[in-house]
Amino acid sequence: MEQQHACVCVAPTEVNREVDKLLTTMGLDVEPELVPLRPEENCKIVSCYYNVADKVKRDGGKIHYGWAIWQSHYLCQAEHHAVWEDEEGNLLDITPREKPTDFIMFVPNNEVAYKEKPIARVQINTTKNPIVDHIIYGHKVIDFLGLYETRIDRDRASVPPIVMEVLGLPHNPGPLRIVLYKREEFFLFGNKETNKCYCDSDKLYKNCHGKFYKHEMAAYVQKITDEIGEPPKPL
Ligand SMILES: [Zn+2]
Repeated sequence: MEQQHACVCVAPTEVNREVDKLLTTMGLDVEPELVPLRPEENCKIVSCYYNVADKVKRDGGKIHYGWAIWQSHYLCQAEHHAVWEDEEGNLLDITPREKPTDFIMFVPNNEVAYKEKPIARVQINTTKNPIVDHIIYGHKVIDFLGLYETRIDRDRASVPPIVMEVLGLPHNPGPLRIVLYKREEFFLFGNKETNKCYCDSDKLYKNCHGKFYKHEMAAYVQKITDEIGEPPKPL
């Protein structure tokens, strides 16, 4: 159940208004750095923690945790991340990305370390369209369900069957992910709350699925917690 990035996000090059708002929301008062990204051999996409741990074994230096900042035309997001720090304290990102970039915006913060449980993204809506808030809520729910993962090794995690059934995979979505995708699609096609809902009810979105987004997703989470209890908290 890898984390997915619904939007095509880019690394901001400066602390603009949205980035500033995100950092304030997170209570971070550390200046972000632009850290060069030079993917190293044998490093895998998404596996930043393991990539850096291997490099430390190989070349010394240490792991530096923090947040990578990404921005799209509708949201700004912090993703927990690890980069490599050399003996002189210079930071280097060695983890490849699906969409290559020469640098990332990184907020160093060793206070949150990876403990084999995925760490939730933090996202803010950078538009005035409330549908984006509904999408962000969906991402929160998905990240919450990530806490049910048990890591087997760097490449594999086991997920309880009921979680897998409800969530599915990004390319083979289960009912909960479909609830989210429908809203994403609706928004990306340029709709507002005052447009007709994507279902066939003939009502406006805000009086239809826009009203029920929390209920709809919470019901699936309830189904899971009823069956297997709350997920274990990260250590
Ligand atoms: Zn509807």
